[in-house]
Amino acid sequence: DQTRELLLSRIRDIADYPKPGVLFKDITPLLADPVAFSALTEVLSAFCESRGATKIVGLEARGFILAAPVAVRAGVGFVPVRKAGKLPGATLAQAYELEYGSAEIEVHAEDLAEGDSVLVIDDVLATGGTARASLELIRRAGADVAGVAVLMELGFLGGRDRLGGTLRGAPLEAL
Ligand code: 5GP
Repeated sequence: DQTRELLLSRIRDIADYPKPGVLFKDITPLLADPVAFSALTEVLSAFCESRGATKIVGLEARGFILAAPVAVRAGVGFVPVRKAGKLPGATLAQAYELEYGSAEIEVHAEDLAEGDSVLVIDDVLATGGTARASLELIRRAGADVAGVAVLMELGFLGGRDRLGGTLRGAPLEAL
């Protein structure tokens, strides 16, 4: 539809970034367009409300930018999931595999509680490793997963399949 066309038109392909052979999806033109950014916020907050989420987790760093206005719009709390070593308080940590090597993400344990239903927001689902690790963190904190919402899913990387079982029936929404 119209919103989808608008959002798509504001995503720029950058060749060979961050390394040769990768076609990077750059969302900064979308963020710089107040109509597009607002439309995206609107769609994501409607999804948040339809899922009855009580918290939104944003994944560092572009996920923060998308998730924060959605949390305010939907009237729920925002919780950052950060790369290891960035959060000052007591954290839960989750390691996951990358194409080459591994990475670790963390959340402040006290920001999520039993009874919370958490929507995860990020800009791009690629291999699905980051999103899957975030779902594991959320459940280890005692909360439930309301769903995962991303602006773009790079289907050829198989992220949806990798997330598969970890979603336990929660929806993965890719705009
Ligand atoms: P995954 O763990 O699914 O392989 O990678 C997803 C993470 O990498 C997301 O946090 C996302 O921001 C980032 N990412 C991977 N490819 C792209 C891309 O082409 N464009 C953008 N904007 N982010 C990407």
